[in-house]
Amino acid sequence: MLSTNMEGREKCIRFSILVFNTTKTLWNMQVRLISVTSPLIEVDRQPLSPEGLIAYCARVSSPNQETPDYQKLLAYCIAHKHWSVFEMVDMTVEIVTSRAISPQILRHKSFQFQEFSQRYAKAQEIERYEPRRQDSKNRQNSLNDLDDATKKWFDDEQERIARLTLEAYNKALEKGIAKECARVLLPMGTQTKLYMKGSVRSWIHYLEVRTDKSTQQEHQEIALEIKKIFMAQFPVTASALAWS
Ligand SMILES: Cc1cc2nc3c(=O)[nH]c(=O)nc-3n(C[C@H](O)[C@H](O)[C@H](O)COP(=O)(O)OP(=O)(O)OC[C@H]3O[C@@H](n4cnc5c(N)ncnc54)[C@H](O)[C@@H]3O)c2cc1C
Repeated sequence: MLSTNMEGREKCIRFSILVFNTTKTLWNMQVRLISVTSPLIEVDRQPLSPEGLIAYCARVSSPNQETPDYQKLLAYCIAHKHWSVFEMVDMTVEIVTSRAISPQILRHKSFQFQEFSQRYAKAQEIERYEPRRQDSKNRQNSLNDLDDATKKWFDDEQERIARLTLEAYNKALEKGIAKECARVLLPMGTQTKLYMKGSVRSWIHYLEVRTDKSTQQEHQEIALEIKKIFMAQFPVTASALAWS
């Protein structure tokens, strides 16, 4: 990972050489829970959990609002594709990833997003990925069997390109070129941050699609982290979905 928030070019180059020497994976994905809908009503003088609210709304036409067990109800809604009840509760997560992955995330149109603006703020870091081999049979797949020499070559190239582009980007800013123009020099590995808000319904389908092997590995890893958060926040729904 390279940083642009350094005072001079020398510091920047020294930092990149330090990065070059390290052997650990440098991809810097981070996922963090930001918020979950917090119900304000009580049932039987007990506060409702977010999942309790989903069940409460699902029982809008039922006199048995007090039934404490809603596992069967949520499982029934899932089995019968009664998805709208899962739209009654939202979850927001913060995702730190690269501009190579964020466009895939942004395609999930049922979510609401806020993304780090490269027009307003200076790009801070460039992520480096471990390469995989192109699958010759499935054009959307890659295989983890590259030899060390090829991996080393790719790592060196990422280092070279990152150094070159950061120098040019910083120089453009020094010359007074607007950030919205200077960013054209940045690579797809440039780090970005998003807030992603969606209903439980949207998260269920996003997680089913993006934890699947057909999704790019770096995106899968983000989805798997979000899935852990989802399962902790919505254990009854996760169990009804037979998620583990
Ligand atoms: C492996 C892979 C390859 C892709 N390749 C391309 C490509 O080559 N080019 C391209 O332009 N795009 C590609 N995409 C993007 C894809 O076409 C979608 O745009 C993206 O996954 C967003 O999904 P969505 O439109 O369902 O949005 P979402 O916001 O995830 O879903 C929209 C709505 O549909 C609902 N929903 C979704 N699934 C279900 C379901 N099973 N049952 C009930 N409701 C459901 C959600 O709850 C939500 O309300 C690819 C995606 C994947 C996973």
